[in-house]
Amino acid sequence: MANPYRWIEKSLKTIHKANWYRSTQTISGRSGAEIQMGDRTFVNFASNDYLGLAGDDRLIEAAVAATREYGTGSTGSRLLSGHRPLHRELERSIADFKQTEDAIVFSSGYLANLGSIVVLVDRRDLILADAYNHSSLKNGAILSGAKIVEYAHNDLQDLTAKLEQLRSHSRRCLILTDSVFSMDGDLCELPQLLDLADRFECMLLIDEAHGTGVFGDRGSGCVEYFSCRDRPLIQMGTLSKALGSLGGYVAGSASLVDFLRNRAPSWIYTTGLSPADTAAALQAIEIVRSEPERRAKLWENVESLKCRLAATLPPHFELLPSNSPILCIQVKDAAMVLAAGTRLREMGLFVSAVRPPTVPTSRLRITLMATHQPQHLDRLVEGLSCL
Ligand SMILES: *Cc1c(COP(=O)(O)O)cnc(C)c1O
Repeated sequence: MANPYRWIEKSLKTIHKANWYRSTQTISGRSGAEIQMGDRTFVNFASNDYLGLAGDDRLIEAAVAATREYGTGSTGSRLLSGHRPLHRELERSIADFKQTEDAIVFSSGYLANLGSIVVLVDRRDLILADAYNHSSLKNGAILSGAKIVEYAHNDLQDLTAKLEQLRSHSRRCLILTDSVFSMDGDLCELPQLLDLADRFECMLLIDEAHGTGVFGDRGSGCVEYFSCRDRPLIQMGTLSKALGSLGGYVAGSASLVDFLRNRAPSWIYTTGLSPADTAAALQAIEIVRSEPERRAKLWENVESLKCRLAATLPPHFELLPSNSPILCIQVKDAAMVLAAGTRLREMGLFVSAVRPPTVPTSRLRITLMATHQPQHLDRLVEGLSCL
């Protein structure tokens, strides 16, 4: 008898051959600008914890207190036994932060995207999506059954041409974009995208996973940064990056949120967010709002590192355009980026080596935190100049 699982090993071999194989890294101790792996300490340039809140005592205390009060699990779907006062408090806090009518929290950002996209459009409809969008937007689009057309990354001309050609053949149209592109660090052109959405009668869903807590004077994200919060828009994001917790959300009009509560399968048929995660996220939003100095420190680090990288990168290493705390250095191929990552690791620097198929070209991906100190940046610049 042929073994129906044999193909899995063959497939793994192919992954190894292409230098695409990945494995987990074990980090011990609390997350922060410095982390412990094995018996060594590393400077952490690979985390999405932009404000350093994941290890903040106040979030930890909030999570512990909520666990004491409500227990570890929320024990059921929000519509059955899983709803706690904290959930609604968090949703009101997100809506107030984003200045939208309402918000709904999901158990992860990935689930927020899947659940929203599948109920906004179906096979009668059209999705136009930036080619560099996050996996959760791409898979949400596929799951919806709508016709999916990608436009070239941040290319509004291409998007316009595709809308002119295709829009009239479909019932609804949904434009999907990251606000901060997670593997490049550049931003979408939100005001222009909203103009096109108006002109062609499209909905627009923006993924603020890397924008929330980082952009805008109040830290609420790129929608605030671009002064677009009064325009019709579906905003989603995650509680797991700058907010240091776990979970996702969608913020928008009251009717949108009410509709998602009644329809989104990844909200209805999954267990509510744990009390600990919910309380930690609530505390994080409060800190983002009351401590703008964290954001200021983060941006100071971004500007300082960008300047110094422009001057010190070795040949064959190219800093990609970025307007965010995500800085990417493009290198020739997967083998070279792996070697660079390993070399940096030897120097006590934890930097992600990102390869296809996650990205079109191999790169070192550096993420900065508000809690990085000048000597952390010095060490990174020094390490990169040795490559
Ligand atoms: C991380 C991320 C998500 C998923 O959020 P999780 O809460 O981690 O599931 C969605 N979109 C983008 C752009 C992301 O970077």
